Amino acid sequence: MNPFENALSQLKRAATVRKTNPDLIERLSKAEREVVVSIPITLDDGTQKIYEGYRVQHSSIRGPHKGGIRYHPDADIYEVRALALWMTLKCAVAGIPMGGGKGGITVDPKKLSLDELERLSRGWVQRMYPVLGPKRDVPAPDVNTTPQIMSWMVDEYEKLTGDTTKATFTGKPISDGGSEGRGLATGLGGFVVFQALKERFTIPKSCRIAVQGMGNVGGNAAKIFANDGHVIIAISDSKGGIVNELGLDVEKVEVYKKEKGSLAGYPESREISNQKLLEIPCDVLIPAALENQITAVNAKSIQAKVVLELANGPTTPEADDILFAKGTFVVPDILANAGGVVVSTFEWEQNLKNEHWSENDVNDKMEKLLTEASKRVATRSEELKTDLRRGAFASALDAIESALSELK
Ligand code: NAD
Repeated sequence: MNPFENALSQLKRAATVRKTNPDLIERLSKAEREVVVSIPITLDDGTQKIYEGYRVQHSSIRGPHKGGIRYHPDADIYEVRALALWMTLKCAVAGIPMGGGKGGITVDPKKLSLDELERLSRGWVQRMYPVLGPKRDVPAPDVNTTPQIMSWMVDEYEKLTGDTTKATFTGKPISDGGSEGRGLATGLGGFVVFQALKERFTIPKSCRIAVQGMGNVGGNAAKIFANDGHVIIAISDSKGGIVNELGLDVEKVEVYKKEKGSLAGYPESREISNQKLLEIPCDVLIPAALENQITAVNAKSIQAKVVLELANGPTTPEADDILFAKGTFVVPDILANAGGVVVSTFEWEQNLKNEHWSENDVNDKMEKLLTEASKRVATRSEELKTDLRRGAFASALDAIESALSELK
């Protein structure tokens, strides 16, 4: 399953119900620029290894390219291209003045020492810096990239260009120009979107929630939902998951994972595979790991009433149709996980204006933007008598079309 084909199919399906000019869809079907580089680094044992790196600049119709950098053994140009297209639509849906882009390196970062990781991250910037910049392309973290990595990258960019604004990378540590609230932003944004839409769903006040992926996004989302009185009944990482129908204490689970390196053996729980976790009886399922998790093969077995997509691209178009027919609400990634890019954009704005906003200010502004975005998406899906995904794509296309008409 090529994620770019899925992303294009989502776009075309939405364009059909929205009756969109085919020229716009053709334009959005291709990235403006794709850069593929080789990054040689010296490993700690003195040998050389060459890694492949990517930056896809999908669209700048609404502003500078914006999007994270993923380090993963399966990252390739197709995945990065899909993620870049979704970023264009996500920024448009959220109403922030950014276009879409994404980057990556094919690497398993767990196999590198900290020094090797730093050399690789600086190497990516040495290859890419001519196409980056605060008004051109502003990367951020994604899977396996951290505030520390953004700090190395912004430092390398400064050395190469003399730009001291720090506005070319977001998701930096607060001590290095980062924004308050960025760490929690994607999980919190998902919660804000859920709150804005929940009256449409037939779910109890306190929901039973299963979370696939306990990284930055899934771990934070689990804690935020638990603090609001929901019950996290299952959670997983790449090695597998655990279940306790009475509820898991996510903070304790995180401490356990840090100590033991996996969730296996966590007290008062039973183990579950990542695939089975998706099919567990629950009210809300939060995929927060990778693409193509809910497919034509397992969509029928999904028992959740709501799928809140905090990962990018977890549901294929075929699975969307099966879930829609069953009455399952899928809150699409380009809306549900937009909190990260919204606060990244606030970070960029603070860097450019040399300001530092309080966490309350950041969260209030994000909540307002995403609540309005959620309402626009719900309205568009009702007008078009379609699912929330097509409603979200329609809302994004509205914003892109209006930006294009202003450019003319
Ligand atoms: P992360 O590296 O912090 O965490 C990823 C987590 O997923 C890890 O716990 C890992 O063990 C787990 N994982 C990997 N493969 C898995 C599998 N097959 N099954 C279950 N778990 C698996 O990454 P993240 O930043 O939390 O990103 C997670 C998802 O959210 C990605 O799809 C990413 O594109 C999306 N996203 C992230 C942000 C952000 O701000 N970081 C913003 C928007 C969307």
